[in-house]
Amino acid sequence: MDRRKFVRISAIGSAAVVLDSCTNTNAQTNVNFTQTKPIVVSTWKPGLIANKEAWNVLKNNGKSLDAVESGVKTIESDVNNKSVGIGGLPDRNGIVTLDACIMDHQYNCGSVAFLQDIEHPISVARKVMEDTPHVMLCGKGALDFAIDKGFKKTNLLTPEAESDWKKWVATQNKKLPEINHENHDTIGMLAIDSDGDISGACTTSGWAYKLHGRVGDSPIIGAGLYVDNEIGAACATGIGEAIIKITGSHLVVELMRQGLNPENACYEAVQRIKKVYSNLKDMQVGFLAINKAGQHGGYSMYAGFNYALKDNNNEELIDAKYEMEW
Ligand code: ASP
Repeated sequence: MDRRKFVRISAIGSAAVVLDSCTNTNAQTNVNFTQTKPIVVSTWKPGLIANKEAWNVLKNNGKSLDAVESGVKTIESDVNNKSVGIGGLPDRNGIVTLDACIMDHQYNCGSVAFLQDIEHPISVARKVMEDTPHVMLCGKGALDFAIDKGFKKTNLLTPEAESDWKKWVATQNKKLPEINHENHDTIGMLAIDSDGDISGACTTSGWAYKLHGRVGDSPIIGAGLYVDNEIGAACATGIGEAIIKITGSHLVVELMRQGLNPENACYEAVQRIKKVYSNLKDMQVGFLAINKAGQHGGYSMYAGFNYALKDNNNEELIDAKYEMEW
C-alpha cells in the first residue's frame, strides 16, 4: 500500500476512535460542508465590538489577516478592558506586559511576548511575521524592534488599573499571584475571508498580578492560537500554563483534522487538561475553533465562557458548553 493511502486510512481509523471516545452528547452534529464565508468569531463579549471592525474588512472582500488585526486592535485600545492592551491589569510589580500573536493562511506567524509600553502588540507581532525571519520577539528586544518600526511609546497603566493593583498589593504579603478568574479575558479571533482563507490573532495583558517576566499561552503559536488553512483554526483563553502544557490550539486543530467538529475538538482539549491536573480549582480554560467549512464551536472547563460570531446572517454572542459550574 502506498504511504499516502496508508496515512489517509490511519487518519480515518483514528478519527473513528476519537469520535467513539467522545462523550459530548450535546455537541453539534449537523455538518454543512457548504462553506460559510466570510465569517469571524472571537472570544468573550468584547468580541462583539471587535467582530464589527473585522467585518468592515471582510464584507469588502478584504483579507482575513487584515480583519483579525484590525478587529483585535479595537480591544487593545479600549482603556476599560482590564485584560487586553492599554488599561490591562499589570504584573505584581505594577508593570503592564503584553503578549500577542498572529497567523495567516500560509503558516506565516509572528509573536511578541513580555512587551511593554506599546498599545498594539498585535501589529508588532505582524511586523515580526512580515519583516523578519523570526517568529517571536520578547521584552526589550520586541520594544526596540517596535520603536524601530515607528510604533510610539504609550503609558499602558491607566489610573484605574493602577488603583486596582495598589489595592491588591495592600492585601498581599509577597505571596505568589493566585489564580484569578475574573481578570484574564484574552481576545482571540479567527476569520475566514471571501477567498476562503483563514487567519487568527490573539492578544492579552495576561494573568493579573503575575510574576514579572511571566509569559502565558497567548503569544505562543500552537498554544494560544493555531491556523491551518486546510483544516481550520483555534484559539484559547484562560489559565495559560494549562493551555501551554497541552499545546491547546494546535491540539484542537489536529482533532478537527481527525474528523471532529469544532465544538467536539474543543471538548477533547478540555478533557486533556482534566487529565493533566489533579486539582481543577479555578482552572478556567476555554477553546474556540472554526473549521474550513465555517462551522464554529467552543468549550470551557467552567461555566461562563462565550464567544462572538459575525457572518452574513448572524451577529450574536454564543454561550459555550462547559464541563462544570464554578
Ligand atoms: N490566557 C491568558 C494568559 O494566561 C489569559 C486569559 O486568556 O485569560 O495569559
